[in-house]
Amino acid sequence: MTALTDNITKLNGFLKRFSENGIQNRIAGQDVAGAGGVFQTHSPVDKSLICDVAHGTASDIDKAANAARDAFPAWRDMPANERRKILIKVAEGIEARAEEIALCECWDTGQTMRFMSKAALRGAENFRYFADQVISARDGQHLKSPTLMNITTRTPIGPVGVITPWNTPFMLSTWKIAPALASGCTVVHKPAEASPMTARLLVEIAEEAGLPPGVLNTVNGFGEEAGKALCEHPAIKAIAFVGESRTGSLITKQGADTLKRNHLELGGKNPVIVFEDADLDRALDAVIFMIYSINGERCTSSSRLLVQDSIREDFEAKLVARVNNIKVGHPLDPTSEIGPLVTEEHFNKVTSYFDIAKEDGATIAAGGAAIGEAGYFVKPTLFTNANNKMRIAQEEIFGPVLTSIPFTTEEEALAMANDTAYGLTGYVWTNDLTRALRFSDQLEAGMIWVNSENVRHLPTPFGGVKSSGIGRDGGDWSFEFYMEQKHIGFAMGNHKITRLGAQ
Ligand code: NAD
Repeated sequence: MTALTDNITKLNGFLKRFSENGIQNRIAGQDVAGAGGVFQTHSPVDKSLICDVAHGTASDIDKAANAARDAFPAWRDMPANERRKILIKVAEGIEARAEEIALCECWDTGQTMRFMSKAALRGAENFRYFADQVISARDGQHLKSPTLMNITTRTPIGPVGVITPWNTPFMLSTWKIAPALASGCTVVHKPAEASPMTARLLVEIAEEAGLPPGVLNTVNGFGEEAGKALCEHPAIKAIAFVGESRTGSLITKQGADTLKRNHLELGGKNPVIVFEDADLDRALDAVIFMIYSINGERCTSSSRLLVQDSIREDFEAKLVARVNNIKVGHPLDPTSEIGPLVTEEHFNKVTSYFDIAKEDGATIAAGGAAIGEAGYFVKPTLFTNANNKMRIAQEEIFGPVLTSIPFTTEEEALAMANDTAYGLTGYVWTNDLTRALRFSDQLEAGMIWVNSENVRHLPTPFGGVKSSGIGRDGGDWSFEFYMEQKHIGFAMGNHKITRLGAQ
């Protein structure tokens, strides 16, 4: 049996319960049908039906938000060590079911096993990392003044909403849900309608690990309906959102009446700048990895290559050869490097840029076409002869599509790198230390890597500037979002209190 057929057999075993029972909402530890009936989720691999999914509406969100509100005091007040133990058990549960999570994620989203097996385990790492900080998360400072002993403490903000996208949905959900639970918040999770499967697995694993009913609730449904209701619900104190920039703006508007605290992780059009003095072999590997891995459906992808004139021709020729050699195939085949795009809508969006590139006068140096009709497969694509004003250089395509733009001087590269609405990541390749420092200091991005691809380290701040977002994840930054700071001042004696009306 090949690895592919072996994986398909295993997947079919895991799919059975989904096709028989569909995906219900999970509220207060119970399966609950959606008030809107059901919608269907299909696999992008062959467009086949996976299962029915509960179509949650505002009334389901209301039930879930009330469940999260009712579960909050006990979860907040549970001794930290007990909460920590439950979160570690969640991590162990994820590890035990990592293969099931990865196979379902691939089938639901089109991502390849090659990357999703790691993404499932990264979900477990997220739980372990934040579990380890539960004990100290509420610690504060003492800030003594001449008359007062001032102390600070942190308290969980309350029930929160987590709204996630369809790209690597399992890993991204844990990134939000783990610190929220570690803080002592309860959660209503609204997963993306295009990829509901692994959110169901997560809530099951969490409950099996001992998470009390109502601490994590999952409501499936559409953004403009269930998502909007979550943002508007008065019991929900904050929204942690990952998705498109224009949705981020809606999240802010929808939460205005209830004064929601929002954390927005949004889109990107991230530059990778390759100078002539760089280690060009390593730069080539990183440029390819950061746009063609995870189907290019990656917020941190380096979708704009800025390459110095003097090396451009050679670098692009090597790029074309490698891009044409990338293996597009069935996501469950461990040798596949790219799988199908997530939905028909997204496939239509990505492929529309092949014509846009031509209309703008760029060259399609590799790819630029769909593959077959069975699923939403596209060839990895490279646009050359582009400039930074073109739509292919300014708009987030969110597929395996790279736009290469030449530059002559460092000043020109910097101006182009910053000439975008976004500011999530930037990647700089040079062996000139002073230039690396100068350039990264002026690059408008929340995260920058020098002579490296994106390597996530959980204690570091993750997030973007400009239209790429507001707020940071990771380390203590996550706790800052899910918790309130409280200051308490204790008088240390009988200091003078100004007396009014006493003459
Ligand atoms: P999207 O904005 O369409 O949807 C994301 C989620 O928001 C979904 O669950 C959706 O149902 C919900 N939603 C949609 N409209 C809503 C509304 N009015 N109110 C509340 N919720 C609503 O994004 P997508 O297409 O699923 O994901 C791709 C996008 O996510 C890309 O732009 C990508 O860059 C971004 N992303 C960013 C990061 C990051 O960390 N910065 C990480 C991953 C993905």
